[in-house]
Amino acid sequence: MNVKRAILSQNNIFNMLKKANNNHRLSHAYLFYGEKGTGKKELAYALATILYCPNGGCLECNTCKNILNNNHMNIDYIGIDSNKTMISKEQIMALQDEFSKTSLVDGTRVYIVDGIDTASSAAQNSLLKFIEDPENQTPTIGIFLATDLSNVVSTIISRCELVHFDSIPISLRANMLNEEGIDLLDALLASILTNNVEDAGLMIQDTNYLKRKELFLNFISIDKAQDAVLFFANNVGFYSDSNELKILLSWLIQFLEDSNLVEKSNENLILNPLYDKIKMYSKKNKDCLNNKLEFVLSLFDKLKYNVSAKNIFHELIVNFI
Ligand SMILES: [Zn+2]
Repeated sequence: MNVKRAILSQNNIFNMLKKANNNHRLSHAYLFYGEKGTGKKELAYALATILYCPNGGCLECNTCKNILNNNHMNIDYIGIDSNKTMISKEQIMALQDEFSKTSLVDGTRVYIVDGIDTASSAAQNSLLKFIEDPENQTPTIGIFLATDLSNVVSTIISRCELVHFDSIPISLRANMLNEEGIDLLDALLASILTNNVEDAGLMIQDTNYLKRKELFLNFISIDKAQDAVLFFANNVGFYSDSNELKILLSWLIQFLEDSNLVEKSNENLILNPLYDKIKMYSKKNKDCLNNKLEFVLSLFDKLKYNVSAKNIFHELIVNFI
């Protein structure tokens, strides 16, 4: 959990919460919703720092550090257990039970329910009374996190202040990694594969990452059929793994989208460090760029339907070059 990074990318939300706190207008229940990787959980903890930090959420003092290390007595968090797909009614009951006890520390109590949209309607409804009237009457702020608002019961929605988390563009996520010293192309390639900045950072450290990148760069440079055949022979084993093929296709799709764009404008290319390659590729293939893009997208779809990766890789080699 990198709260500082999340605050940078969702600064308007952090400022809105700070302002609400300064004006004593914080809601007693928030529903943060938006795609995975948009920083909802991080901002929930950021809100807690705003509440308890003597400096209004500095992220540096001991209070802030305790909060960010999940070491603060007044904050309770429940999320989906790693071997489960949803929040259970038992977890919600345990949370309510915890709140029926008197806190050892004075002040507002915060509970975070990460994945409220995965809980059953009955489990969600059991929270309603709790939102309105936590049993021991201490001031309480509930923060609910959801990726799919349509799975949250309307009675919860109507009791919460809704805060939408915009998706963070690939280039912005990559720039954050770049500022931390990661090569921009690596940061971009990884950010294409995941919305989550931390996961992207980890992907670059994966033992297979360099090979993935090298093969992708080789692939987009192939312009003769015989080289394509050689590429197939050398790498068919590697790309029989559908995850590996998915990564190659994801990068290829972005490369083709950029190639389509490069004639129209030089800005807004995602894979900007590959500008020269994109420009050259676009020139050579200007009449068939759209066909190529559609073709690769169709292969990407096939991967979802359990068609063997080896066959799809073969199709790519035969029809793409
Ligand atoms: Zn602080």
